[in-house]
Amino acid sequence: MRSIFKKYSLLMWLISLSAVLSSCGMEPVPSAEPSSMTVASDSVTNAAVEETTAESTESARESSSTDKNEEEEKTESASTTTTSQKKTDKKIPLSFYETELKVGETQMPIVDDEIKEIWTSSDNDVASVDEFGNITAKAEGKCTITVADADNKDYCAEINVTVVPQPGLTYIDGILIANKTYSLPSDYNPGGLTPETNAAFEKLVQGAANDGLDIYLSSGFRSYSLQQQIYNQYCYDYGQAQADTFSARPGHSEHQTGMAIDVNIIDDSFAGTPEAIWIENHCFEYGFILRYPKGKEDITGYKYEPWHIRYLGVDTAKAVHDSGLTLEEYLGIDSKYSE
Ligand SMILES: [Zn+2]
Repeated sequence: MRSIFKKYSLLMWLISLSAVLSSCGMEPVPSAEPSSMTVASDSVTNAAVEETTAESTESARESSSTDKNEEEEKTESASTTTTSQKKTDKKIPLSFYETELKVGETQMPIVDDEIKEIWTSSDNDVASVDEFGNITAKAEGKCTITVADADNKDYCAEINVTVVPQPGLTYIDGILIANKTYSLPSDYNPGGLTPETNAAFEKLVQGAANDGLDIYLSSGFRSYSLQQQIYNQYCYDYGQAQADTFSARPGHSEHQTGMAIDVNIIDDSFAGTPEAIWIENHCFEYGFILRYPKGKEDITGYKYEPWHIRYLGVDTAKAVHDSGLTLEEYLGIDSKYSE
């Protein structure tokens, strides 16, 4: 069966040549090439099987000579390759080994093997990766994402990631900013809460439940147009000056990032409840910060909102929490409308 995939696997191999040669930071092993091709052929999909079946006669004709070559190469490699080098012959089959992402975008490669995956990034400031392989572009630059088999760390693969800027978005220290100074383009729409935010919030809800408290999502992602409707309604009801103290103008809402959540009761009656106190003391453990703390109205641009949390990732959230600063102070930025 293998021989009919020769042509396809050669193509696969050529496409992924650079990734193969740099397999997980190990030195390239020339004699590993034929085996790498075999790995690629094992990962061929059913569609590709149908495609190549038509060529099977021709391929079968080629196969006798190719198999012979492979045997010769195997013999050669057996005599020159050590045991540890042989492990580098195998590379985890992925749906891609190279990608370009705009800052803020997320992409997940498909792993075509049943393994316990361990994902790591060579530079978490450029692109991070979660336990499922969701790669999130953080800041302009290049880095390498590596997946390895937990049971055999030598069985691995690398993805070369290039992160390019997203026009109209402001990232400071890898954090997407939406406040009164920095706005988001009207067409920026991550389509909902980001996967990382969602997963972190689920853990937060569970953590609160373990402490006997009920935290729930009241408002998550809001598109530009939805925020426009909400803001216009508040302006109509309260006047613009008043509305600006508690509602963001369209493009300026942190909810448009897909990384902000309003929990439970969205009004002043939430303040001082056990849930509000728990959020204030524990949300950073799950990667969130209380975005608009008490007494910081002049800095954040918003009155105290005990219900509004922002996802930053556990490390950054802890750093901001431990600093005792608002996000604006932590990053040294303003939050003021220009007019
Ligand atoms: Zn909010």
